[in-house]
Amino acid sequence: MSELFFLGTGGAVATKARDNTALLLHHGQDLVLVDCPGSVTRKIKTLGLDPRAVCAIQVTHVHPDHIYGLPSFVHSLMLADLRIRLFAAEESIHFCRELLSLYGLQDESIRCRIEFRAVGSGDRFEPLPGVECQAFHVPHKESSLAFAWSFPENGKTLLYSGDTPVFPPLFKQAAGMDTLIHDCSVPSRYFQEYPFLPSMHTNALDLGRMAQEARIKRLIPCHFFGELDFDMDEIALEIREHYQGDLVIPRDLMRIEL
Ligand SMILES: [Zn+2]
Ligand SMILES: [Zn+2]
Repeated sequence: MSELFFLGTGGAVATKARDNTALLLHHGQDLVLVDCPGSVTRKIKTLGLDPRAVCAIQVTHVHPDHIYGLPSFVHSLMLADLRIRLFAAEESIHFCRELLSLYGLQDESIRCRIEFRAVGSGDRFEPLPGVECQAFHVPHKESSLAFAWSFPENGKTLLYSGDTPVFPPLFKQAAGMDTLIHDCSVPSRYFQEYPFLPSMHTNALDLGRMAQEARIKRLIPCHFFGELDFDMDEIALEIREHYQGDLVIPRDLMRIEL
């Protein structure tokens, strides 16, 4: 059985209810962490899981809300004899390596070892035995990646966009998938107000239209901006203008089955 937890569902600005977006994949005895903002160790324990079961970390991109907790997570495992593979684009790997080095977290005395694995757009890899993953470039930052997982055991498929504006090639890739977790930072009215947004993030109206065209079975929007004043009803209403599949508005620490 595979399950996925939302360690956070918010954008760069956390709110009382939503921390920065990060995911935790649980497959067999193993965990995969997708991005690493703050309090990851505590959140994994709150879910009744063991942070020492994290075998892989997949980094979408290195904006602070997605990566600032990496040194703290590795530090919290410094006494554990672990090998954790970190998958990311080459440029992000360089950044993560430097970040850990600043804290001396790649020194010999640190028993938890991070093994860096650079992946490019289209590359396939196995973060865990029995889980296949493919990386895709998305145009949010030069080195931003989306990740698509497939689970040969039950034939299910899942794609997580990371931070991204609407990117039609990604929806082509996601066509017919069981689950799409996608950037849905704001309702559409903010795209006029903040001209930088359309090149960085996706609004709820566009997401619903694209997900419907791609025949996504279950759509989970996330990365909601905490600094703007809107509620989840507005997000859901805009998505529902076009999208007729299964819509799940996530909460922090929510679990879904795959
Ligand atoms: Zn972000
Ligand atoms: Zn970002």
